[in-house]
Amino acid sequence: MDYKKYIKIVENWPKEGIQFKDITPLMDNGKAFKSAVDEIVEFAKEKEIDIIVGPEARGFIIGCPVSYALEIGFAPVRKEGKLPREVIKVDYGLEYGSNRLTIHKDAIKPGQRVLITDDLLATGGTIEATIKLVEELGGIVAGCAFLIELTYLDGREKLDGYDVLTLMQY
Ligand code: 5GP
Repeated sequence: MDYKKYIKIVENWPKEGIQFKDITPLMDNGKAFKSAVDEIVEFAKEKEIDIIVGPEARGFIIGCPVSYALEIGFAPVRKEGKLPREVIKVDYGLEYGSNRLTIHKDAIKPGQRVLITDDLLATGGTIEATIKLVEELGGIVAGCAFLIELTYLDGREKLDGYDVLTLMQY
């Protein structure tokens, strides 16, 4: 399917010089959204995934329907202070400042095969941090799946050695 027709490019948002890829028109189209999720479900089946992990907030939107379709769990990765029980943390750099992501300590059992989902791969910082959390808990990152890859930001370089699926490239 030509998913790109459902992506709206918003100039200079959230700040000057950024071309934001808005995925909400794709989510708004039931057939396109289902088709995109189904492609990720097939990828997850091939990789024999035990559990999905997604960073907030759009990683939930992609990951949860995949976990539902496969009757497997979904573990959220969230900003500090959002998860109610014991967590492990990772810090990663942003263009300005840094960010801290957390996951519940018991979210993944050692040896579980994990698929990480997010809407978009840009510099790869978010996904690299999420991989660190999963691996610290003993999970095996068997795949990473995104709707969109911004190839000019070279996020894939941070994912060397991992199996990566992206449905659209810009
Ligand atoms: P990265 O850490 O790879 O630089 O950035 C990816 C993260 O930022 C993802 O979690 C994604 O949701 C968000 N992101 C960055 N740019 C865009 C964009 O243009 N569109 C959307 N939908 N998300 C973006």
